[in-house]
Amino acid sequence: MNILVINCGSSSLKYQLLDMSDESVLANGLVERIGIDGSRLKHQAHDDDKVTIEVPMKDHKEALHQVLAALTDKNHGAIESLDAINAVGHRVVHAGEKYAESVKIDDDVIAALEACIPLAPLHNPPNLTGIKAMQELLPSLPMVAVFDTAFHQTMPPEAYVYALPYEYYEKHSVRRYGFHGTSHRYVVDRAAKLMNKDLKDLKLISCHLGNGASVAAVDGGKVMDTSMGFTPLEGLVMGTRCGDMDPAITTFLMENEDLDIKALDTVMNKKSGVLGISGVSSDFRDIEGAASEGNQRAQLALDVFDRRVKKYVAAYAAILGGVDGVIFTAGLGENSASNRKSICEGLAFMGIEVDDQKNNVRGKDAIISKDNSKVTVMVIPTNEELMIARDTQKLVQ
Ligand code: ADP
Repeated sequence: MNILVINCGSSSLKYQLLDMSDESVLANGLVERIGIDGSRLKHQAHDDDKVTIEVPMKDHKEALHQVLAALTDKNHGAIESLDAINAVGHRVVHAGEKYAESVKIDDDVIAALEACIPLAPLHNPPNLTGIKAMQELLPSLPMVAVFDTAFHQTMPPEAYVYALPYEYYEKHSVRRYGFHGTSHRYVVDRAAKLMNKDLKDLKLISCHLGNGASVAAVDGGKVMDTSMGFTPLEGLVMGTRCGDMDPAITTFLMENEDLDIKALDTVMNKKSGVLGISGVSSDFRDIEGAASEGNQRAQLALDVFDRRVKKYVAAYAAILGGVDGVIFTAGLGENSASNRKSICEGLAFMGIEVDDQKNNVRGKDAIISKDNSKVTVMVIPTNEELMIARDTQKLVQ
């Protein structure tokens, strides 16, 4: 069975075509600048060279049309005809409290996701546009929606209720949802295999450290708490997002910096995080580079970032009543040995001991804790596309 995985952003679209007989990637690519001058499609099939196709793509339907054309192209395609695609899996950001698992898409699902737009005004609309465009282009294909929020729906109320007047939860669904669920679900599953244990018997803390970053506390495969909240702004320090802070800073800045709601939102989401502290970049490679050359604010940004992750790891060990494994994933978690070392430093009291030599690894599954470490510390590259394809296969079979 071949499954096409689609991840639609507002002006971009990522895709991957997988052959589920061996879970291999037949082709993948990225469309950028949809609806903007200079739209282009970067496509790669098998081990062929990457091709860039520059054609105007005024909307997502046109972009998907070009993706399907690239996949079936005689020269750089991966399949002979569209009949070789058996199902489509769509990444969808927000399902509110409606779905705790992936679902096969029908009219009711689309209506439910439209109802969630106020909760994810930037993300759900392009996700829905992608679904509808795909339905028009390939009407007979079964499609599945896989949600960023779904895995976190097992959190108990004491984890998801905010200490605000309860009526805001009832009236506006203001609660913690959590994101990166597909990634956390993939890596905890892999972690159990790496540890040779049943996921049901494990207390795991999963650290997804990329441009966006979150931690999840997972007991027996069920999320008990997670650091992102009502939106992806809460929790860890991120590339450009502030994460946790005193909420009163918002009203203080509005008054003293003359910021309106939109400007404040931009400050917290786009100008903060390690970019805001360092003034160098939102990219951790640039910041690590600057810090190693003696830039103190770059070093401070890394220190603030690492300290916040450490705080969550220790807090979540308390929530879980112990911890068997800690997982590092996503761009930074998979690649930065120095960050992993600094986050785990001083946690030997709770059984977390990283081996410097084993930690010298990037981008592949590895156990990086000392042989006698009570807690197994792991690097596990995430693979959200594969998770989406697996869910899709399960639901359409
Ligand atoms: P997202 O999917 O949220 O955009 P990624 O998971 O791709 O993010 O992570 C991107 C981040 O990972 C960037 O800040 C990047 O600098 C960081 N990263 C990638 N490779 C390395 C590396 N070798 N060393 C340090 N940081 C890295």
